[in-house]
Amino acid sequence: MKEALAKIVGEDNVRPGDDSFYTADETIFAADGLADLVVLPGSADEVAEVVAWCYSNEVPITPRGGGSGWAGGAVPLGSGVVLGLERLTSVRSFEPLQWRIEVEAGVTTATVHRLALETGLYFPPDPGALEQSLIGGNVATNAGGPHCFKYGVTGAWVTGVEAVIAPGELIRVVGSVRKDVAGYDLAALLTGSEGTLGIITSVSLRLIPTPGQSLPLAALYPSAVSGCEAIERVMAAGPVAAAIEYLDAATLAIAGGGFPGGIPAGSGFLLIVDCDSGEADRDALRQAMAQEALDEPLAFDDPQVLWRWREGLGTLVSSHLGSKISDDIAVPIDRLAAAIEGTIEIGDRHGIAACSFGHAGDGNLHSTFMFDPSDELAVRRAKAAGDDLLAMAIELGGTISGEHGIGLAKNGWLNRQWSEPAVRVHEAIKQALDPKNLMNPGKKLP
Ligand SMILES: Cc1cc2nc3c(=O)[nH]c(=O)nc-3n(C[C@H](O)[C@H](O)[C@H](O)COP(=O)(O)OP(=O)(O)OC[C@H]3O[C@@H](n4cnc5c(N)ncnc54)[C@H](O)[C@@H]3O)c2cc1C
Repeated sequence: MKEALAKIVGEDNVRPGDDSFYTADETIFAADGLADLVVLPGSADEVAEVVAWCYSNEVPITPRGGGSGWAGGAVPLGSGVVLGLERLTSVRSFEPLQWRIEVEAGVTTATVHRLALETGLYFPPDPGALEQSLIGGNVATNAGGPHCFKYGVTGAWVTGVEAVIAPGELIRVVGSVRKDVAGYDLAALLTGSEGTLGIITSVSLRLIPTPGQSLPLAALYPSAVSGCEAIERVMAAGPVAAAIEYLDAATLAIAGGGFPGGIPAGSGFLLIVDCDSGEADRDALRQAMAQEALDEPLAFDDPQVLWRWREGLGTLVSSHLGSKISDDIAVPIDRLAAAIEGTIEIGDRHGIAACSFGHAGDGNLHSTFMFDPSDELAVRRAKAAGDDLLAMAIELGGTISGEHGIGLAKNGWLNRQWSEPAVRVHEAIKQALDPKNLMNPGKKLP
């Protein structure tokens, strides 16, 4: 295997299959995986050749972007090839006047942001690991982020995809036109497919002119219920907020010390509302937030002060007891307070510390159970709490994954959320595109 694949990608680009950098992602419970080899092709044609060789030799393929995933999707399950896309870093075309760019799968999310900004344009999806995640991984997971509330998740910005499908063929679906309804929407099918239908080698993206300056506001409320009522008022206020984020009381207790505005006693909920459409809109949103708030909503002149603190939340929560399980359930907005309170109840039931924070405007929680990783009982309790959490999301009419995908971490749960005929459609699609089940086997599908 090594010799054949080295002939395609060069010896330097074949690594041992136990190289821990390539066999784990950021998911705490997806233990390090194992592959036979790690292969790093340098072009889309090489990806196609590697896939063709693997497909004819029945070798499973685990695609890998930046390894920032939180579902274990890039973790190989004992054999086969990890196919890393990190060397596909070309900007194939960039036409700022047409508001479009085509980049290869290995370009980082941060680079796409920077390239757009340099010409006064904007690529809105902003998943938290901007410097680590690659655009191919973002498309493969249909990643979100705070500003996806106003602008939509990654898939809303994809106008075309180039991918290698079984048994090793390079296809381009749609491209740089802004509209194309000629065929089935194969770009949308590959988006969010978590590497189970094909390997994305390049993506065409839509950009927009940079919106106005970010003018964020923050307000504190006594409880999750009053905070969630404020969210509904903000959504009814008229101007569309650029982002609506929240922290519950337990997260505030852990991370509130560093909050730029200070957290008074009795605070049970923090609401952050970003506005990028001018001061008049910010005033309207501020009024909607003010009702029932503990104090006048706080305006930030330097948005970076607030966003930097927000970005550090995950790390603060992780280090609180040493480790955490954090799931990305999403529920209808009018069930958000129930899901926030339910997270704490589930933690209490299992005797495990819990908190939640997340993208409130999308009803998307990062519900978290924290524990000391050396305490085996606590680890078991956290896992059981995680299962109850997914069940709660389904019960509330929501989803087991609003952002990170199913991967390995939630495998087996799709058929709890979707009906049997709907899961059968998934299986039929998988069978049509990957008849030998070699594309990221053991992920996403039950
Ligand atoms: C600190 C932090 C904050 C985060 N915040 C967010 C957030 O706000 N929103 C959000 O949605 N996610 C967030 N994430 C999760 C993660 O960053 C996203 O899921 C991201 O899109 C993964 O991209 P990646 O390149 O790292 O993919 P990887 O982790 O390498 O892979 C993810 C999945 O995609 C598949 N894949 C990767 N590349 C390709 C390809 N080219 N073709 C086919 N399949 C491929 C893999 O097989 C795997 O199943 C966060 C993660 C961290 C560590």
